[in-house]
Amino acid sequence: MAHAIGVDLGGTKTAAGVVTGDGELLFSETAPTPNRDGGGAVLDATAALISRLRVRAQAEGIAIAGVGVGSAGVIDAGHGSVVSATDAIRGWAGTALTDGLARRLSVSPGAVRAVNDVHAHALGESWRGAAAGTASMLLIAFGTGVGGSLVLAGQPVLGHRYVGGHVGHVASPYAYADGKALPCSCGGSGHVEAAASGPAIHAAFLRLGGSPAVADTRAVFALARDGDPAASRAIRTAAEAAGQSAGGLVNVLDPEVLVVTGGLADAGDLWWNPMKAALRRELLDPLVHVPVLRATLENSAAIVGAARLVFN
Ligand SMILES: [Zn+2]
Repeated sequence: MAHAIGVDLGGTKTAAGVVTGDGELLFSETAPTPNRDGGGAVLDATAALISRLRVRAQAEGIAIAGVGVGSAGVIDAGHGSVVSATDAIRGWAGTALTDGLARRLSVSPGAVRAVNDVHAHALGESWRGAAAGTASMLLIAFGTGVGGSLVLAGQPVLGHRYVGGHVGHVASPYAYADGKALPCSCGGSGHVEAAASGPAIHAAFLRLGGSPAVADTRAVFALARDGDPAASRAIRTAAEAAGQSAGGLVNVLDPEVLVVTGGLADAGDLWWNPMKAALRRELLDPLVHVPVLRATLENSAAIVGAARLVFN
């Protein structure tokens, strides 16, 4: 059977694993991403990680057909290059991702493919996870940021300029405070990410008079579980913003299933219940029964989905 190496290249760590032709992750390794040292250093570290997996695969008699990468940033999947990226990985924008890896690994350029990490995540969930066997799925990740991917017939819809899936950057009536649009990570304002991301919950908690001694979103959730009104309201409002925008996207796209993932989706009923209620309120009548599923592959989703690029 054919095997591939899938890579989940993130701002703080990079994980890679050997995946079978039907999507089973056999083994994986993780290494820190040298995110202050420039694109070349990130490619060096990623190639070293892949090489270790190749050695291990060879020792077990496994032939590797190619390498797929799901990477932070906007990825031009045609040229395998990084179009743009945040400062999470300094110097990542402009990097020739697939060519640089192929050269370091001494393989042909066509043996390495890449997409944005949210698209890889969605491919994994549509192949072997929550949406396995479906014809279409919309995945939305609510965490540090808000991102998404529509997968149709096993292919993520990347968009004409590879920017498709930026579901966090649509207007939301929730992204306002005192009549002013909240600033967004993209440089714009009034976008749903500014109201529904993890950091947005912490910011809302502070605006509602919550104690500045509460350091982060995780601590806001702990307070809400103890009944703190500002913490509860901040989470509920962000969850409603998330659900409303997810419902609007389902109205536009009518996917067979909606898969919700990210740190907030893992935070339990405090977030999940108001999110789902707001989503249901937003849906058009023929869509009210669309399945809303939690992602199931967790940390391996992007590795498995990236490997899928090799078999597509
Ligand atoms: Zn934005």
